[in-house]
Amino acid sequence: MNRQYLLISILGAFLICFNVFASDSNKAPMYFGDFKNLVIPASADKWIRMAADDFSDCFQRATGKELKIIEGANPQDMEGNIFIGNSCSLLKFFPDAGRSKSGIDCYELFADGRNVAVSGINGQGNMYGTYEILRRFGWEFYAPGCERLPTSNNPIPIFQVSVTPVFEQRVIALNFYCYPSIYSLKDCLKLGYSPYSLKESDADMSCSVPPGIGDSDFVRIYGNYYKKIILHNMAFLCPPWLYLKEHPEYYARDSAGKSKMTATTTPNKIKLCLSNPEVFKIVEARLKEWMSQTPNARYYAIVDGDSWDWCECEGCLKMDPPQVDCFPKDRKPQQLSDRMLKFINKLADFVREKYPDKIIVAAAYQSTGQPPLTVNHLASNVRILLCPDYNIGCKCQSHTFACFRNKEFLEYFKKWQHVAGEQLEVFEYPMNYKDIYNPFFSHDGMSKRLSFYQQNGVKGVTYCGQPYLFAELFIYLQGKLMWNPDLDRNKLEDEFLSAFYGSTAPEMKKFLEKIRARVNGDNPVHQSESCAQPSLLNADLVKQGYDIFLKAEKSLPVESPYYQRVKQVKLCGLLWADLNQYITRDDEGRYSHLKELADICRNSGNPQYVTSLTSATGVSMQEWLYKKFQINIKKEKQKAWYDAPEIVELRACSTSAELNDYIKKTKEKIKTQLQSVRRGDKILLPLNGFTVYGTQTSPILNKVGNDKQMVLLLYGQESMATSFILNSIPVLDLNIEIKGLDHDKNGKVPLLVKLNGTVVFDEPNSFSKTQMSDRCLSIPVHLLKKGENKLEIENMGKPAAFENWIMFSSFCIVTK
Ligand SMILES: [Zn+2]
Ligand SMILES: [Zn+2]
Repeated sequence: MNRQYLLISILGAFLICFNVFASDSNKAPMYFGDFKNLVIPASADKWIRMAADDFSDCFQRATGKELKIIEGANPQDMEGNIFIGNSCSLLKFFPDAGRSKSGIDCYELFADGRNVAVSGINGQGNMYGTYEILRRFGWEFYAPGCERLPTSNNPIPIFQVSVTPVFEQRVIALNFYCYPSIYSLKDCLKLGYSPYSLKESDADMSCSVPPGIGDSDFVRIYGNYYKKIILHNMAFLCPPWLYLKEHPEYYARDSAGKSKMTATTTPNKIKLCLSNPEVFKIVEARLKEWMSQTPNARYYAIVDGDSWDWCECEGCLKMDPPQVDCFPKDRKPQQLSDRMLKFINKLADFVREKYPDKIIVAAAYQSTGQPPLTVNHLASNVRILLCPDYNIGCKCQSHTFACFRNKEFLEYFKKWQHVAGEQLEVFEYPMNYKDIYNPFFSHDGMSKRLSFYQQNGVKGVTYCGQPYLFAELFIYLQGKLMWNPDLDRNKLEDEFLSAFYGSTAPEMKKFLEKIRARVNGDNPVHQSESCAQPSLLNADLVKQGYDIFLKAEKSLPVESPYYQRVKQVKLCGLLWADLNQYITRDDEGRYSHLKELADICRNSGNPQYVTSLTSATGVSMQEWLYKKFQINIKKEKQKAWYDAPEIVELRACSTSAELNDYIKKTKEKIKTQLQSVRRGDKILLPLNGFTVYGTQTSPILNKVGNDKQMVLLLYGQESMATSFILNSIPVLDLNIEIKGLDHDKNGKVPLLVKLNGTVVFDEPNSFSKTQMSDRCLSIPVHLLKKGENKLEIENMGKPAAFENWIMFSSFCIVTK
């Protein structure tokens, strides 16, 4: 026997290297294709069985040979065995097995040149370890439909390693639109994520399950909606259908004692009165029942409704820190983490004895985002799920907390760390929820944050969805980094791109680098999760982008699997945002890009992909097409927007002449509806007569002061235009009366107003910030024309999430 010492670089954070006894060097080397038996213990659980099935399936596809599965017995052969899970036969071959495991999901791997073995701390550890063994023979899983098989002639190596993931909880919640149907629970496990699923059929595998599983009343009343509740589950813990009518005091009330909850409040918005002792008893009983029905689950989120409607009863106010006004008149409720923790700590104490391994997860979110002032400890079975969103000072998701826009959040993080110590998890917002197809690039920022979390002892990370631009890359890379944030990101990215985009990987990398340069470059773009207008694209980048995609598409046959993937990047990185934000302005360009958008959706083969497009900006596709393209389609159930006759006609245009005919015809149909209205000496310019070059294209009903009005809204760098007819040129200058409202932040939004192409106003606006106010602009008579006159208004402010907007409720030209 030769004694060899090996140093092995591996995935996990904790690496233990042993001296390894190698097999006889005189024997012929053995290869992956030489495996004969797969050995599992007699008591193998579902995780080990799943891993064994996957291994033998992969072996069969790679070698054409079958593995013999041996259950609970010693293999006859002394070599060519794969052991999954701890058993006596494993110990015969690898006596060191089981000595160095610690921590959730950890595993040891052994290989002696003739046999390999996985020994996990539990079933899940065995499963992750089995996938890692496969990787060492060349296998990789990049995304559904994109897998690399091992090869027969990969030699069986010699090693012994122990791997523990950096984060215990590694969740990606792909519950947004199309991705849940693309990635199964098993796919996520192969990528290294924790078992998390909202599907009932996955309930016994998921580490945290939505409430309602096993409660037929709850499912009956809320239908499928219960799955969407996920975290905000007070409607499950104290059901309104049982108590609201007779005990309105169980639920959040205002300071006059009136209930803030009604029978129609959606279940994820239900908020409780946390000071009511009867509420506590009900919640405790239902939580215990939930725990007893889900023996495999470990994490139980207990999070109040997703709204600002906190209880203002005397008892609840007493739970808040006395030195703070938690319900300020002019702002949202704040500093409510003290009351939340008093409730959660007590609840945790009451369930610990019966369920010592189960963990209660409480969210530091919105009003509970600020760390507590009077509570300074956490029960040992509680985790704080800190949510770095806009409301608690994390205003940029493109960068780490070193970004100046995240300064406030970093302070909160430090204080929470002080209270929660190592009982801290985070809930990340890596995408834009207002407009999912607008390019959003959080990839690098999120990767770097994982290193920050590792350094600060954070126990778990949950991604609330994924950015749609390079979504599969994000899902793949983050799965790896959650095991070890120190991995070479660039190398993994290149490997992924080449596997997923084939020969067009260099073009995709080029486009990715252009986006990356916008986010990480000299004049960085900061993106927030709920910004209606993520400003990643500009005219230059759009032009360069179309060139890159043209080259990539030309090099691929249409039937290639890479072709659709490239088109998908184009849709989420370029097309949708270009059309939505009017970056390409000429009609022929816009309508030909719309034709391409329709073709991509038509050919995507995933109907969910297309439906999600309709809800991408919160407006229906019908409205979007009308406002942006003056295409008036009828809404038909069962029919996708791209199958409407008007769109079929557009898709049939194959020459520039045909397209221009189509545009002309479409615009003529609509023109008569957009005329200005003359009343005596006044010409009213109706709001829906404006073409808005921006994200909020149509007039919307918006809260202004105490009531609601129809308004047009312009964000930074957006503009709008309309025209009006003059029958003769007036003798004197004209006045335009405008009703408008400036944004509620500091500073005045700069406005630019042009008449017939000439600037008539270019300075900060003087509208009120609290109510609609009138301003009058004078138009010099020499700029006016007989016939059609064009009025343009541009918001010169920078694009931003909740600021630099301006809204208008009426325009009127006074001719005398
Ligand atoms: Zn209360
Ligand atoms: Zn930033």
